[in-house]
Amino acid sequence: MNIHEYQGKEIFRKFGIVTPRGFPAFTVDEAVEAAKKLGGPVWVVKAQIHAGGRGKGGGVKLARSLEEVRTLAGQILGMTLVTHQTGPAGRLVRRLLIEEGADIKKELYIGMVVDRATQRVTLMASSEGGMDIEHVAEHTPEKIHKVSIDPGKGLEDSDADDVARKIGVPAALVPQARDFLQKLYKVFDETDCSLAEINPLIITGDGKVIALDSKLNFDSNALYRHPDIVAMRDLDEEDPAEVEASKFDLSYISLDGNIGCLVNGAGLAMATMDTIKLYGGSPANFLDVGGGATAEKVTEAFKIMLKNPGLKAILVNIFGGIMKCDTIATGVVTAARQVSLNVPLVVRLEGTNVDLGKKILADSGLPIISASNMGDAAEKVVAAAKGQK
Ligand code: ADP
Ligand code: MG
Repeated sequence: MNIHEYQGKEIFRKFGIVTPRGFPAFTVDEAVEAAKKLGGPVWVVKAQIHAGGRGKGGGVKLARSLEEVRTLAGQILGMTLVTHQTGPAGRLVRRLLIEEGADIKKELYIGMVVDRATQRVTLMASSEGGMDIEHVAEHTPEKIHKVSIDPGKGLEDSDADDVARKIGVPAALVPQARDFLQKLYKVFDETDCSLAEINPLIITGDGKVIALDSKLNFDSNALYRHPDIVAMRDLDEEDPAEVEASKFDLSYISLDGNIGCLVNGAGLAMATMDTIKLYGGSPANFLDVGGGATAEKVTEAFKIMLKNPGLKAILVNIFGGIMKCDTIATGVVTAARQVSLNVPLVVRLEGTNVDLGKKILADSGLPIISASNMGDAAEKVVAAAKGQK
């Protein structure tokens, strides 16, 4: 789960990490009020969307008067902000952060991420702050320094100091940077982050180490122990199909192809997408209905897929183990009746109660294309999608 920059900074402040003072604003008037509360002379008006690159996209602007705060807030609120992370469609800006302007002397980069290979949290740091870190990693990888953090010890003083020096923190500020990094690790550990990124971390003219940006992602499997973080969820920033699917406990990810996939089991779902690709098609989604899906759940899954206007065909690929083929067949038939099924449907069933499942489909009178194995199913669904204009 992602949260906004201003929410991340609220968490930072709870853990003693210094950030510029600032307030969120949902309207232009609130933005001006926030600026008044902060006091002048310089404010920054920042678009709050779940994507980076806002500065370059025109979503972070400096204001030198309350009038300018008003004008900029009016421009940024409601704009469709396009950045390299939003894709060409961009994101509608519904919230702002009004923040005091910082006196930036140096911009640095700090990130922490769970590294599955070492099964530890890796701290990454670079002198190249404020830049696109993927670009730094590609062109000047030697400018990224890494420390693998032992969960039993936490981030040790010597490692923190070493990294701080390597990214150009002046000697006098190394203790402050150490404290900052150790607090960030505490945030990461105690709130169950999967990623924490501060780009840029700055050193100010008067020698303070401050988080100027914040990006926090949380492990969704751990959210049950953080109701305060769950309360920060902003559904406007999430894919509506994925939000809908999560209500029914379906693992659903929207993709940009045109073949809907309904599969049981994550591994089979991945293999199904690969097979579709192999036959020259492109999946519209990943969908694992899980082992214990009911006919109602399958119906909802169907409805979610069919809401996609770009959908050209659907492939149902079920290996009945715990999941019974007749349950899936009943769900498919119910869904097809409830919503007008206007794209070809290819079904491949195998396993528990397969004959009963096939009979339900055959008796339904629906124009279902049945397939005998995965290759056959993928070939048929790709052909069916291509036939649809
Ligand atoms: P993004 O990463 O989405 O572009 P940032 O929060 O990193 O957004 O802001 C982009 C740039 O704007 C920063 O690198 C910094 O130069 C400037 N900036 C952001 N916040 C402030 C602030 N409070 N004071 C001064 N400059 C700021
Ligand atoms: Mg940034």
